[in-house]
Amino acid sequence: MPTTILIPTPLRPFTDALDAVEANGQTVGQLLQDLIARYGALRNHLYSTDGKLRSFVNIYVNDEDIRYLQKEATPVGAGDTVSIIPSVAGGSGLVATPVLPELSPEEVRRYSRHLILPEVGMDGQRALKAAKVLCIGAGGLGSPAAMYLAAAGVGTLGLVDFDVVDLSNLQRQILHGTPDVGRTKLASAKDRLHALNPNVHVETHEAALSSANALELFGRYDVILDGTDNFPTRYLVNDACVLAGRPNAYGSIFRFEGQASVFATRGGPCYRCLYPEPPPPGLVPSCAEAGVLGVLPGIIGTIQATETLKLILGTGESLVGRFLIYDALRMRFRELKLRRDAECPVCGDHPTVRTLIDYDQFCGVQGSATSPADTGTSSGTEITPLELKLALDRGDRFVIVDVRELQEYQINRIASSVLIPLGEIPRRHAEIDRELVVVCQCKSGVRSAKAAAILRGVGFSRVLNLTGGILRWIDDVDPSQPKY
Ligand SMILES: [Zn+2]
Repeated sequence: MPTTILIPTPLRPFTDALDAVEANGQTVGQLLQDLIARYGALRNHLYSTDGKLRSFVNIYVNDEDIRYLQKEATPVGAGDTVSIIPSVAGGSGLVATPVLPELSPEEVRRYSRHLILPEVGMDGQRALKAAKVLCIGAGGLGSPAAMYLAAAGVGTLGLVDFDVVDLSNLQRQILHGTPDVGRTKLASAKDRLHALNPNVHVETHEAALSSANALELFGRYDVILDGTDNFPTRYLVNDACVLAGRPNAYGSIFRFEGQASVFATRGGPCYRCLYPEPPPPGLVPSCAEAGVLGVLPGIIGTIQATETLKLILGTGESLVGRFLIYDALRMRFRELKLRRDAECPVCGDHPTVRTLIDYDQFCGVQGSATSPADTGTSSGTEITPLELKLALDRGDRFVIVDVRELQEYQINRIASSVLIPLGEIPRRHAEIDRELVVVCQCKSGVRSAKAAAILRGVGFSRVLNLTGGILRWIDDVDPSQPKY
């Protein structure tokens, strides 16, 4: 009898877009071997070269992590559901203030629907007023989280961000409005939160969170709400929460799927108990590359705000030890058990990480100063949009391979380009004419650089990457096309 394996969104390009695959085997290991026998491109995503399951991929049988069962030897039968859960590109009595602040008559009226709840009441509302919450990021997750926390009467809200509001943010980042485009997110957020509730003290920190400032900053707050969208910052937030002893209301989003949990409470698991190491760069696309349903951060960010309020109030059953997975397309919530790993490098019994490290290096991220998009002219493997245009006008012949997704190609494109999405390059490269110079192109030049490397790896001798992608093509060559 076959067993069902649920395939998460980031891996579906390798299973012909299937979200569930039936596989045969008596154990988890046999099932996975059967899976990669049929979908060979998955092997590299699930196993390292020495044949071990990768540490950023967790396998669950029903709601149990196989690391706490019999690992890959865990038996499976008909009716069991096996889930592949890869990492995706976010207590009580917390507020130990001896004397809680009083509420003004205006605040009593404002919070009246809280005050009549036995679980909140006057003392709970005063605890909220005394509480300090730090939101990392004023973007998709930080928007609903900060707004609901401000509306609920959390007394001090810190915001860390250094970004500027862009038109493409407004599809989901509801802290900001159309007139805010071009302003800093912090200035925009502060105005919005004060308009919502002038009683809230909004503290803005216009800086990138770093190993140098995180511990000192976290120490000033009671709960940290992780709204980051990249792995270096996510591991930094996790480790700093553990080291500073602050709970982490975690959330992350990808296309139509979200995750939420609470990490780093006393005795509770942390993000590294789940994923000790980040995936190598490039294996997991970011939201900018993969897209995200606008309402999704609204749901996940609101869950993070809910958990934060419960931590402050010391009420209810928190997400500590539980990993919540939400699928917006199916409108389905699933829940997995999460345990503290005694071997965890940060929160385990014998931690090896005792100070904050260089998280860019840990996650294998290269410095951006050397990004080809920053240089005016091309190198031997790059071609700028202007150079390409001049060559095309001269009559030079190229194959321009657009490696974005169909939805992106429908927004804008270079006239003579052919569309082969990055995930399909390994099995479709035979469609590309090897006699011509190949120019790989995407939105900004990152995915196309990966595509160019793949093509060179399978023997294409003349492959160039279009520096800055379609965005720079529009800037420099064809301003008539829309940007996204
Ligand atoms: Zn841990």
